[in-house]
Amino acid sequence: MSKKEEIINKVAQDKLDFNLGIQLLAEDLEYDFEELFMTLKNYIFNAIPEKIYYNTENYQKSINTIPLKPTYTPIVILKHFPTRIAFSKLAKLPQNENIKVITSLLWIFKVIDTERRNTECKNGCGHFWHSLQ
Ligand SMILES: [Zn+2]
Repeated sequence: MSKKEEIINKVAQDKLDFNLGIQLLAEDLEYDFEELFMTLKNYIFNAIPEKIYYNTENYQKSINTIPLKPTYTPIVILKHFPTRIAFSKLAKLPQNENIKVITSLLWIFKVIDTERRNTECKNGCGHFWHSLQ
């Protein structure tokens, strides 16, 4: 697991403060936004159990609780477009939106991964990243 993946999973599992996690991820964000975006996108899509529209009640809940102003562009996009279309739009936003995009995606992953750990993973699972110390 890369350093970034470790940060993402620790934040999701409440083993690292959310804002500190964002700060750590942002340190070299300008060099590898694309890679970080793809990693978070893959994590999110994997964690959503509904694989046709990638839209569940919990996914909606995660969008509605992102700790940013709801008028920010990435949140408006997430609320108004179907999941896959929203993500393709997020990938094309100007660079000054990068940190808001990453904040939104890390939050979404934290909420839906927590739900997954509390349901399908509850009695043990084969996700090695769910046994971080
Ligand atoms: Zn698991």
